[in-house]
Order: sequence, then structure tokens, then C-alpha cells
Amino acid sequence: MLNRRRVIAAGAFLLASPSLPVLAQEKIKVVASFSILGDLVKNIGGERIEVGTLVGPNGNAHVYSPSPADAKKLADAKVVFVNGLGFEGWLERLVKASGTKAPIVVASKGVKPRERSSDHGHDHDHDRADPHAWQSVANVKTYVTNIRDALIAADVAGKAVYDANAATYLGKLDALEQEVKATVAKIPADRRRVITSHNSFGYFQAAYGIEFIAPQGVSTEAEASAKDVAAIIRLIKGRKIAGVFLENVTDPRLVKQIAGETGAKVGGTLYSDALTDEKGDATSYIDLIRHNLKQLAGALMS
Ligand SMILES: [Zn+2]
Repeated sequence: MLNRRRVIAAGAFLLASPSLPVLAQEKIKVVASFSILGDLVKNIGGERIEVGTLVGPNGNAHVYSPSPADAKKLADAKVVFVNGLGFEGWLERLVKASGTKAPIVVASKGVKPRERSSDHGHDHDHDRADPHAWQSVANVKTYVTNIRDALIAADVAGKAVYDANAATYLGKLDALEQEVKATVAKIPADRRRVITSHNSFGYFQAAYGIEFIAPQGVSTEAEASAKDVAAIIRLIKGRKIAGVFLENVTDPRLVKQIAGETGAKVGGTLYSDALTDEKGDATSYIDLIRHNLKQLAGALMS
């Protein structure tokens, strides 16, 4: 009823002032908890939605402190998308504080969770799952179908648009997945082992066969212990570790120290938990995966 009344009002207005531009249809306000998820939601929602993101580009969702502006975004939203798997530990309180009535949609629903590995991690979270499921392109296809279905539930008039956008984007993800597999296949098997700051590439490792070793666990809340760092330095010296990488969301000092003590070269920066800002080269999920793939291939094939 409300929409119809608005359309009639807009029509009457236009008759009175024919030179004014046609009013755009009011967009559905949705919120995504972090930048990577925000990009996926934008791809499926297209022009029908307006996406607000809580943890922005280069931000670290593991240790985020929500602001009053975030509570306002949730209160105004028609749908809220979160990763789940224990990634947004701060979310429940924020949802309560905001008083939002929006459904909270867990985008990773249906993904097979990886257990946190305990060999290097010191995670004190109570959740046992590794939250970084988006590092496997196959998992992101599940995210996309969940996002599509939630948008249709919130805005059934847009069903045809959401279905078409999701089909197009799923096609791009199929191509991306083939690209990742074909590139990793060119890296010699004995060189597929790298060091990163925190253990955020477990799903990439399981899906594509590059081993990631990290001084920090799957969350960045706990500090790496001296014992873990010493163990990694021994690993680099004793085994063939072809690449040491920084991340865009974690403090680079520890990885630089490890590189310094072992003589290993820093291969570049991998994007783990966030997109880059507009000046960076990973403003979308697809570009993030492509960037990481290029960095890995560059260091491991040279
Ligand atoms: Zn992380």
C-alpha cells in the first residue's frame, strides 16, 4: 500500500513539473557485516538495494568495535547479512542495542565448516569453526544462493532481478574457480607452502592445495606466543618454505621479524579478511582472489 501511495504521489508531482527527473524507486536498505560480504550482496542486489557495510575496507572484523552509527544502520536495514561461524563476535550485542527487526541472514549457512587447527593457533574463542569460509570459491557459491534467497524473501517483486544477477555472478565464480585450480597446478608441488600472519587461508588450503602456516590462530585476538614463532622459524630453516606473506588486516611486524631472522624474502601482501579501499587492487571479491593468486604464483614459481 505504502509503495503504491508513493508512486501515485510521485506521478502527481511529475505532472505538475514535467522537467524534473523521474524519481528513482526507493532502494531496499541492507547491511553486510564486512567488506567482502558487502561486495557479494551488491552483486546480487544490484540497483534494487543500497548496501551499508559495518567493517570497511582493510578493517579487521575479529577485533571490531561497533559505533553508534552502526546501530543506526542496523535499525534502518530491511535485511542484515553476516558471515557467521563465529566471525562477528561483537554482533549479537550490536543487534540488541540497535533494536533492529531485520532478519539476520547467515551467509555461510550450508557451508561445511573447517575445524580450527590447533597446531599453531591459540584461540580463546568458544566457537570451534574456522570463519574464513570465503577463501574457497566453492563456498562463496553457497553464500550467493543464501543472499539471493534472502533478498527474494525481503523483496519478492525483485525476484527475477535477483535470480538473474545470481546466475550471472555464479558463472563468474565458476570461471574464477577454474582459474585458481589451473594456476595452482602450475606451481611445483614441493613449493606450495607459505607463511602468513594469521591462520585465515585454511579453506583455500583445503580446496586448492597450498599449505599455509601462521604464527597467529584463526582469530587475531590472541598474540602469537614466542614458542610458536620459534617453531615457525625452525620450520622455515628446516623445510622448504617458498613464500612469506603479509596481510592487509594484521600487524606486519611479526611476519617481517620472521623473514628477517630466517633470511626469507617477503613475497607481498595477501588479502585475507577485507577488501582494499578504492586505491587498492582488490575492491571486489573476485579481484581479491585474483590478487592473492597472482602474489602466490609470483613468489612460488620464481
Ligand atoms: Zn581472520
